[in-house]
Amino acid sequence: MDRPEETGVRILNRPVQYLKGVGPQRAELLARLGITTVKDVLFYFPRDYFDLTDYREITFLEEGKVQSVEGVVAAVECRTFPNGRSVLTVGITGKGGFLRGVWFNQPYLREQFQVGQRVVFSGKPRRAGLLWEMFHPMVQRLGEEEQPQRGLLPLYSLTQGLEQWELRRIVRAALEVGLPWVEDVFPEDYRQKHALLPIQEALRFIHFPPDATSLEKARRRFVYQELLVLQLALAIRRCQQQSFRKAPVLRVTREIDKRIRRLFPFEFTPGQNQAIAEICEDLAKPVPMLRLLHGDVGSGKTVVAAYAMLLAVAHGYQTALMTPTEVLARQHMATFERLLAHSRVRRVLLTGGLSPRERATVLAQIAAGEADLVIGTQALIQEDVQFHRLGLVIIDEQHKFGVRQRAALKASGEDPHYLVMSATPIPRTLTLTLFGDLDVSTIRDAPPGRQRVHTFLAEPDKRGQWWEFFREKLREGRQGYVVTPVIEESDELDLVSLEQAFESLANGELEAFRLGLMHGRLPAEQKQAIMHAFRTGEIQVLVCTSVIEVGIDVPNATLMAIENPERFGLAQLHQLRGRVSRGRYPGYCCLFPGPDLSEQARKRLEAFVRTTDGFELAEVDFALRGPGEIFGTRQHGFPPLRVADLTRDYAVLVEARRDAQQIVAADPGLANPQWALLRRQVLARYGKALDLAEVA
Ligand code: ADP
Ligand code: MG
Repeated sequence: MDRPEETGVRILNRPVQYLKGVGPQRAELLARLGITTVKDVLFYFPRDYFDLTDYREITFLEEGKVQSVEGVVAAVECRTFPNGRSVLTVGITGKGGFLRGVWFNQPYLREQFQVGQRVVFSGKPRRAGLLWEMFHPMVQRLGEEEQPQRGLLPLYSLTQGLEQWELRRIVRAALEVGLPWVEDVFPEDYRQKHALLPIQEALRFIHFPPDATSLEKARRRFVYQELLVLQLALAIRRCQQQSFRKAPVLRVTREIDKRIRRLFPFEFTPGQNQAIAEICEDLAKPVPMLRLLHGDVGSGKTVVAAYAMLLAVAHGYQTALMTPTEVLARQHMATFERLLAHSRVRRVLLTGGLSPRERATVLAQIAAGEADLVIGTQALIQEDVQFHRLGLVIIDEQHKFGVRQRAALKASGEDPHYLVMSATPIPRTLTLTLFGDLDVSTIRDAPPGRQRVHTFLAEPDKRGQWWEFFREKLREGRQGYVVTPVIEESDELDLVSLEQAFESLANGELEAFRLGLMHGRLPAEQKQAIMHAFRTGEIQVLVCTSVIEVGIDVPNATLMAIENPERFGLAQLHQLRGRVSRGRYPGYCCLFPGPDLSEQARKRLEAFVRTTDGFELAEVDFALRGPGEIFGTRQHGFPPLRVADLTRDYAVLVEARRDAQQIVAADPGLANPQWALLRRQVLARYGKALDLAEVA
């Protein structure tokens, strides 16, 4: 005989065919939805609900919200027009009057109505003269004595061949068979303390909520659970990356601090000092720092990173700075060359563009500890890169949300400290999720004298005016960018459009000026040469793709035209615009959208014109695009959330995070039997994505 739990597991894991109403054919359809077991059915949640809570007499109908009316079919009429279109009207009489249901181009529905039949029509009623009508109402045909459905009717995502009512019936059957056997991942006292519905009730209400309040409670429970599991995974990952790991203690002394600061020709901003203080506190501990540094474009993050690197070097450790592109690696290198011109800090550049011989030399220097500062691209994490004494790793992630490649840097003995730098502000929701295993330092202020960028959203007929202004500024000695979107560098068509833009400017509006052309597919040396020419002013206008978005710093460039800006994300646009606010002169940025601008795209661009605050833009972008686009793209390796909606469930997210941290602080391995089920969920869902070692 099975023990009761085993019976439960067996029942829940039964194939769907065991449910009433599911034969091999429906089972196949369900499989397409990812449903193969009874349990899968229970956890296949509705995507939406149809409101059957508001039943009314016809006299009391109102426009604008979904209501239901019970009545008797009085007249059915279907008119077909010569062009093939048709209108079906079904009149019903109910308490207080007459209501007409109207269907366009669905003449076959006529068969479903008979005069004298009891029905319910649900939908948003509209007044039509003296009558009320509903377009394409939802219909219930009632048998004799049968009571109408009430509450919120679940609407599931379907697949061809499966209807809502069929799936509803299957869900009901699954609830009947499986519900008593579903175990709650939460211990009862935990549930009560956090005001969470028991699992049975929550499942019943999420599928068939009697009213909006019950649905909200059920939803809250699942949202909380989903976010708690995520936050537990993050907390455990963090714990695993710190406990049993030893990192060098890099204490800052007054002397070291003075020596580092002396290298910079300016005072640090309060925001920079704050971030430096937070980093120094971490570095003084013998466990690896895991910290995210974000702030607006040009807020001086690189300087903070440089401080940390020099601190590590002062203690005799190597530090590595990893960038997403070669251009950026070279630029960081140039920054450090300037900064360290008179110091003994030894720096090397390691990129994919090195010849095998150069590469071998650099690798040997790194391995022998003859390089203090190693700057490079992904090439840094390749197999053969072996550090001598790596103390600190800085990952310049730019805004490629969550592309995490921390793990692989090779060190012997101690673990390095980690600092992740994001080029633009990260929305608060994402700092708690995709970056949720990191501490966060935020720079809110900007170095003094930062110039405002005047931004315009141009109508096509304003082009002439803009280029005239552009030329005038060029004659005053400024430089500029013309950016066209090449989203996929492999996309030939886009490159053509870049070259066309170049041709037409070079032979037209900007004929009298020195133009350069740059995109990501040019060989590295060529890119370098072009950047050099631009920096020295030999090139006045750079016609380019978004390759320049990544941190290019030419203070004299104050002009930017962006073609098809709707094809960029807000973060990217902001990053681009940041290129023209680097110097003493005010910047000007003009957007030339394409002809078919969507509503959403227009909103984004308008927000971009309205504010230059990167934090605000990050939140707008997140709200407009929704978490789906960021969280849904699998590039960061996180499985998508199924219930929680991060734009709307922020409060629950914060709550779940706090609770998860408490749980893990007390029990890092979730070893207490009361967490056994939660622990299993954490591992099943995030074990791989977050590289969680099997917790003991
Ligand atoms: P971020 O990496 O945040 O975009 P950077 O560190 O590249 O910003 O700094 C942008 C520019 O501002 C650089 O030219 C840098 O030298 C300068 N800068 C940074 N901090 C200060 C400061 N405290 N005072 C004056 N200029 C600064
Ligand atoms: Mg920077």
